[in-house]
Amino acid sequence: MRIRPALLALLAATALLGGCVSDSGSEPPDRPSSQAELPLPAKAAPVHTDTPVAPEPGQKCGDPTASLRPDGARGDTLDAIRSRGRLIVGLDTGSNLFSFRDPISGTIVGFDADIAREVAKDLLGSAEHIEFRSLSSADRERALQDHTVDLVVKTMTITCERRQKVDFSTVYLRANQRVLTMKTSGITGLADLAGKRVCVVSGTTSLDRIRREQPAATILAVPTWADCLVVLQQRQVDAVSTDDSILAGLAAQDPYTEVVGGSISVEPYGIGIPKGDEDLVRFVNGTLDRIRGDGTWERLYGQWLSGLGASPGPPAPTYQD
Ligand code: GLU
Repeated sequence: MRIRPALLALLAATALLGGCVSDSGSEPPDRPSSQAELPLPAKAAPVHTDTPVAPEPGQKCGDPTASLRPDGARGDTLDAIRSRGRLIVGLDTGSNLFSFRDPISGTIVGFDADIAREVAKDLLGSAEHIEFRSLSSADRERALQDHTVDLVVKTMTITCERRQKVDFSTVYLRANQRVLTMKTSGITGLADLAGKRVCVVSGTTSLDRIRREQPAATILAVPTWADCLVVLQQRQVDAVSTDDSILAGLAAQDPYTEVVGGSISVEPYGIGIPKGDEDLVRFVNGTLDRIRGDGTWERLYGQWLSGLGASPGPPAPTYQD
């Protein structure tokens, strides 16, 4: 029988992908006998069970999501950004759906990136007057404290602990922490993670939450959520746990994975702003107010996050003043 070249290529690709989709015993002899022999991503590290876990945050700051009311666009921080002529925004450049490089245009696109562009549009007259800087989750607070970015727009949960170091806008998306696993794993949620290996990113609320809620899991901490998808595909972990919004982006990249179980916690996202830049907080809240009302928020949700289900509508803002 003559096998067409296209079919041969498909067979070769299937063989390469085989490790990602099946643990059948029919692997060629020259492949590693266990996926666990594959190297881990750079800076991946097990979290030892005796490492202290952050305590359950009390309501030390009242409602952490209450921010400052929008008002006139005046202040030193706004003046400095206007005279620079571009808004500097920290985000993850490899987060599917939120901030990732469009393979055709090469620009950073996604829900977070587009919300940041709306701020640039209001402040500088053009969505193009923006510079994105790549940040890992663990770098977010430090980048704001060091003023290496004006804003962090990176799936960042507003917490009392973080508010001691940085300021936040009003809530622009409400996510829920859940679990991602291979469809064949038999894992159906948090309870099944006892005795299992779970990937999370360092410096996240997801890491602290999973350690508190499922102390019987073995945790592997890595720098990015894309790293978690790789170690799941390589069978070096059994599951990933973080916000359903981020997990939806990973699941869209691998049809053999699925998001399972109910909400482990509610994660209200805010735009991170250096502490004390009150004029910028009020300005950003003005943009969020505009996009909630003029249909932009709904358009961006429909464009990027419709895989999460029907739009819940933009979260209502709460203010402290
Ligand atoms: N929302 C979680 C956090 O802020 C996880 C998101 C992320 O790592 O980007 O820690």
